[in-house]
Formats: sequence, C-alpha cells, structure tokens
Amino acid sequence: MTANIAFYNKEVHCNTVCWEVTSRCNDHCRFCYRNMISKELDAYEAFHVLDRLAEGGVRKISFTGGEALLYPHTWTLIQRAHKLGIRTVLISNARLLTDDMLKQYGAYLDWVTFSLDGATAQVQSAMTRHPRHFECITGWLSTLQQHYPHIKRKINTVAALPNHEYIPDMIPMAHAFDISRWKILRFFPVRGIAQRNADDFSISDEQFEVLRARLSDCEGKTVDWLDVEDHEDLMDSYVSILPDGGLKINEQVVGNLLENSLNNLLVRSGLSMRRHTERTARIFDQSA
Ligand code: SF4
Repeated sequence: MTANIAFYNKEVHCNTVCWEVTSRCNDHCRFCYRNMISKELDAYEAFHVLDRLAEGGVRKISFTGGEALLYPHTWTLIQRAHKLGIRTVLISNARLLTDDMLKQYGAYLDWVTFSLDGATAQVQSAMTRHPRHFECITGWLSTLQQHYPHIKRKINTVAALPNHEYIPDMIPMAHAFDISRWKILRFFPVRGIAQRNADDFSISDEQFEVLRARLSDCEGKTVDWLDVEDHEDLMDSYVSILPDGGLKINEQVVGNLLENSLNNLLVRSGLSMRRHTERTARIFDQSA
C-alpha cells in the first residue's frame, strides 16, 4: 500500500530512518552512547509519527532504542509500517524476544539486527554486554535461520579497544549464520556513559585502519554485505527519530514530528541528499 507517499517532496525526502522508540534499556554496556530522552510517545502519537514518515516517503524504518522491545508499541508499529509498504527492521539485544512474538508478528518483519561484538563469549564479555549476550544472540540467529528464513539477519558490531583485534574472527560465523548484512561501526564517545569510559573503548585511527585492511580481503573476495564505517561516514546522511518524536540529524534536533511534517523538518536540516541517497542506495542494493 503506497498511496500514502503521494505527497512527498523528492528534493528533500529521506529513504531510511532509525527510530529510537525508547531510551530505556535492560543492559548496561559501558560503551553505550544512546540518546537519553525520558518522554515516550503513546500509541496515538506513535501512529501519527509513523503516518508522517510514510507521507514523507520513508522506505525503511529501523526500530531501535535503548532496547526497542521495552517499548509497548514496537510490534504494532512494525505491523502497521509493513502494511504501509515500508521495509521494517527490529534492532534488539534479544533478551526479551520470544518465539510467540515472532509467531504473531514475524510476517511483518523484514530484517532483524542484533548487536554482536566478537566470535566468542569471552570477547563479547570484554565488551561489557550482559554475560549471556553471546549465547542469546547466537541462539536467536540459529532459530531465525531455521524457522524464520524470510527475516533477513544483520549484525551490528562496535569496533572498540577490547575487541578490534578479534573482529575478523567473526567472518566464519557470519557465513555460518548466512548473514545478509554486517555493519562494523567504530566506537564513538559522543555522549553519556561512552564519554565517561572513552579511554577504555576508543581505538586510534591506525588501529581502525588496520581493522579495515584486515577485513578488506573479505570485502573484496566474496561478500557485498560488509560495511565498515567511521562516525564521519554517517555525517549529513543519517536520520534518527528520538523517543519523544524529535528528528535528529548531525546531533541537532531540527524539530518534532508531532508538530511538523517530515519534509518541513528536512528542508531546515543539514541532511545532504547526495550523501543520504548514496548511502541508502547501497543499503537497498544489499537488501534486494
Ligand atoms: S549499547 Fe545498546 S544494549 Fe547496550 S546499554 Fe546501550 S542501548 Fe542498551
């Protein structure tokens, strides 16, 4: 169903947004740099924001947090977005995920993205996620692969001091779980607890380039599903929605979708249509 996108302005539209539905989380990662916004949208407000995104021509929404499954309306938003013809992504640490959820809503989900930072529980623990995170994520990757093959699987990896040397060890695992996309993002202490713990997680430019080089063989030979990104790669091209409906680009909140349309907010933002289109075209190629 795409009639809803008839109003969007092609000059200023955005293809993909990352919607942080809540700032709450059930984990305590010491490298976390999520936005901390206490207000959350009620169901009516959230559906209104979703309609604004659809009218604005958004083609893919990644629902994230915090932990997206702590927000009570995540699944109904996914269901409605799917019915509006929008590609849906759930980004989750999987602790609250259940088989019943997937049975009820899996048909509306195009992608699941899990955070995974190493090929062993030891490396994962060094990154300070929950002690059972590695076991939980690999278990769900296996379940999705076997029982929900229509849902594409993506991994997000934070490249940081405790794990950067071991990230290439994850390549066989990515193949084994038939991962459709793997994004490796350099740790960036932009705010919050990440700033306070920056010394424990930051890697140098040289360390990041070594990692890129070690992964480039993998990129060049067999896969088109690996992105290694520095924070600069997101500048001017990454659009996020905050838990209160605010629209954020380049660390600037340019307005709120409860009060204004997506197009009106984008025209006053620093979004580079060229960079956004280039970046998201690559994502849609990989999603085909
Ligand atoms: S990094 Fe993700 S899982 Fe960890 S505390 Fe932050 S939001 Fe939660």
